[in-house]
Amino acid sequence: MVKKKEFGIFFLLFMLALFFVYIYTDITKAKEDIFERIQNHQIEQISYILQNIEKDILETTEIVTVDDMFSMFKKEHVRAEYEHIISLMLTSNVKYVYILYKDEQSRFRFLLDASKTDKANFNQKFDVNSPEYDTVFTTKKPQVIQQSDIENLYLTYLYPIISNGNVIAIFNIDITTNIQKIILESIKPLETFFVVLIIFVLLLMVMTIMQIFHYFVTRKKIFTDQLTNTFNRNYLEETLPLLNLSNYSLAMLDLDKFKIINDTYGHKTGDYVLSQASKIFKESIRDSDILVRYGGEEFLLLINNRNKAKSALDTCERLRKNISKERFIYDDHEIRVSVSIGLHMYPYLEKNIQEAIKIADKMLYVAKKGGRDRVECYDEKESAEKLSSSGDISFVKEAIDEERVICHYQPIYDYKHSRVFKYEALVRIVTKEGLIVPPFAFLPQIKETNMHYKLTQRILLTVFETFKNNSKLVSINMNFSDLINSDIEETIIKNLQDNPHLASRVTFEILESDEINDIELFKQKINLIHSLKAKVSIDDFGSGYSNFKTIIDIEANFLKIDGSLVKNIDVSAKDFKVVKSIIHFAKQSNMQTIAEHVHSRDIYEKLLLLDIDFMQGYYISEPKETLVGEEELFQAL
Ligand code: GH3
Ligand code: MG
Ligand code: MG
Repeated sequence: MVKKKEFGIFFLLFMLALFFVYIYTDITKAKEDIFERIQNHQIEQISYILQNIEKDILETTEIVTVDDMFSMFKKEHVRAEYEHIISLMLTSNVKYVYILYKDEQSRFRFLLDASKTDKANFNQKFDVNSPEYDTVFTTKKPQVIQQSDIENLYLTYLYPIISNGNVIAIFNIDITTNIQKIILESIKPLETFFVVLIIFVLLLMVMTIMQIFHYFVTRKKIFTDQLTNTFNRNYLEETLPLLNLSNYSLAMLDLDKFKIINDTYGHKTGDYVLSQASKIFKESIRDSDILVRYGGEEFLLLINNRNKAKSALDTCERLRKNISKERFIYDDHEIRVSVSIGLHMYPYLEKNIQEAIKIADKMLYVAKKGGRDRVECYDEKESAEKLSSSGDISFVKEAIDEERVICHYQPIYDYKHSRVFKYEALVRIVTKEGLIVPPFAFLPQIKETNMHYKLTQRILLTVFETFKNNSKLVSINMNFSDLINSDIEETIIKNLQDNPHLASRVTFEILESDEINDIELFKQKINLIHSLKAKVSIDDFGSGYSNFKTIIDIEANFLKIDGSLVKNIDVSAKDFKVVKSIIHFAKQSNMQTIAEHVHSRDIYEKLLLLDIDFMQGYYISEPKETLVGEEELFQAL
């Protein structure tokens, strides 16, 4: 991620700045250290001389008190003699040397002054401006006064003359030197260099901070979808490489029949519903989940389930329910919408996220096919691994070659006589490892390919073989392109023509929603089936755009009502009416009716009121490898 780099640079600059500041303070400290050493050295030398002079004055003149000293130096020749002695201390560094005493009013006055020019008079007042002068008297210790001249070292050294334990006078030495100036001048470029360096690094740091700040400000814009205020695909691309997929389940969400909302109420209303629906999505998930607007009204949801895998399904269900119970109000219209969800529990098992998305998409397709407003979950770890590699033609080809194509049979129930009326054959592929793969995982990939015909042919042979020696009835799924394929036609004729006992028990379920572009050809093929004494059923009736005339013309024996219409008849009065009228229409046209997707007792009981002929669904029995008998029905209660 780009920003990681910026944070790294900022950290480096910060360390660099710290390093430079450290060097700078080190130089400054070293400088002060040198000054201190010079000062101490000079004071040490001067102290040594002063000690000797003090000794000389006190011992040779027998001075005891300040008055003795005053009397002695009052004499001009004595004063001249001692001024001469102390003047020997004057050098280019030692500018002034004088001796002061404190009079009765505690004022400082000159006793001796070694200055050549501007010399003070004897007993002349000396104005004191530092407390150190008094400190010498109280502490009886030498004092150093740092003067404020910065460039030149300038200090005053006060040295006590002590007699009988009392300070009777003090030496005042003013010292100045330009060594400090010389040192300062040589160090200054170095100091300046580091100051410039520090300023430069600080500037760079400010620039980096601004860049990071700018990133965070624009980040929201770049990664957010304006209409729905969810993340967009830019975010997904940026984040995916950093995500640990094993912590997430992946769901694809698509609003149902959204086009109708646009067409009925206008695009603006559609936009409103879309934005409100995504608000509900966001309210139904946790902060650790990631919701991305993937397409128009399609969303990708990564559900963080590090701790409990089941919660992904709960999240999807919660989300679906929250949407379906909501009423969106816009321009006085009350609009309801539902969402279909395809869930992949373990996307990390796929070779990449795209594969996982594909599978979640397939599950979404299953949810749509199954009647919408539902969650379809793909959660078998092992078969997830297998299915990911099954989405191609060679997967089907190998299965056919190695005879791993099988059929499961789901009973179609004749509740009026409490018996299994017939079985619908549903194709499955068994993987080399023995896992069962459902058709949605491979049929879409082979649609319109030669492999599809081969597979249908294989199903036909399997079913004919299974049913030729019993007296049970069976339905086989076919689409229009299968029907007009000459190889398939040949297989049907070959197996049914001379076997009227089998033929009369076979029904071909033709997808009503399939695109039938050549109606005459279609009718011709249906007539062939009739002539063989086999039966015809219209599959998924109500899911496509029914051509009633064609349906009546082909004289189908059965009409199977699409699951999307059946699954809600217990709650939707409208759907109930639609199913009722389909049954009425079928009866008028001499067709028997079958309801599929009967997955609950409520639906079953509702259908009883409608005088439907047959029912099929998980409530009665799921598809099984064997032909289940009546005693095995209604086991899922
Ligand atoms: P279903 O998914 O249930 O099969 O039906 P659908 O009607 O939702 O089908 P489809 O996914 O094909 O159509 C999606 C429609 O969503 C098409 C487009 O008009 C509409 N749509 C997509 N994006 C937006 C959008 O941003 N605003 C609006 N108002 N409509 C959008
Ligand atoms: Mg869509
Ligand atoms: Mg849709």
